[in-house]
Amino acid sequence: MTSTQIDNYIFNNLPSYDGWMPLLRELLTTLLSKGWDETIIFTAKEKYGKFVYVIADEKFSTFISAFNEFEEKINQSCMICGDNGKQCTPGYSDQTLCLTHYIDAYPKIVNIDQFGFTTKEERFNWSDILELNGFADYRGHVEFSKKSEMLSSIYIELKPNFSSQYLKEIALVSLHHDDLNWINFLKNIPSECLKKKQDLNNYIKELLKSFYFCDICGFKAISNYEFHKCSICHNYSWESMTERYTRRYENKTDYIKQNQLMYFSGGFNYELNKLEISFEKKPSFRRMFSNQEFKEYLDLIKS
Ligand SMILES: [Zn+2]
Ligand SMILES: [Zn+2]
Repeated sequence: MTSTQIDNYIFNNLPSYDGWMPLLRELLTTLLSKGWDETIIFTAKEKYGKFVYVIADEKFSTFISAFNEFEEKINQSCMICGDNGKQCTPGYSDQTLCLTHYIDAYPKIVNIDQFGFTTKEERFNWSDILELNGFADYRGHVEFSKKSEMLSSIYIELKPNFSSQYLKEIALVSLHHDDLNWINFLKNIPSECLKKKQDLNNYIKELLKSFYFCDICGFKAISNYEFHKCSICHNYSWESMTERYTRRYENKTDYIKQNQLMYFSGGFNYELNKLEISFEKKPSFRRMFSNQEFKEYLDLIKS
């Protein structure tokens, strides 16, 4: 097979993401060197962000071990650039990405000020908004009405004269609870935009008042309106947990310390949160573990 034929084979039969291409070429070259040819069928695809083997005819069994070796390597490579990556969910679909491309792909609301805000696609002015609707559920789009429901998304209808580079027929922007800077966005919606939405307006006011400090990450990012789950480190407040969960720990201090070790050891969520500006940090916040304990923990998770 020539290199063009190899590329064509990959484009037609395998998930040919840019970042995966070099390894896929290497995989085919290896298979060819072991006697594989195009009459021996195998198929692989991307599923939940991973490179997975789907079907192969019996004759392919002699090539399986070479295939598996590459499968493992591919699943540790960013689909976009090929750097070290891992399976992650930036927003709504599973992908294998490096930290840079994870942060890049993660839905975020930025440059929020008195004039408007920017989403990944473009800049919107508050004055472009025709109507703003809150929803309580991601999938069913149950219209937000009751205070007991968690506000999961906001759909923004733009005025007919708004011209967009990206939004086509329907001038609708949707922003979600998990978007970076969501709370900061809610804080900045001008009262003018919420004039016709008293329920939503009241909810947002109460929600913003309800946040209290998280003992694990130190940010004022836990609210009873969000089931006492921290928006930064994703842990629940100790007091809100039932005995079924608390009994896994010696006591509250043990719970805080164990989860602090996990949170501060880094990872995609930790790095992403460096861009989150919605929450203030407790000035007196201290980590409950020593440098030695942290070092031991890092060694433990590496091994
Ligand atoms: Zn990458
Ligand atoms: Zn936290």
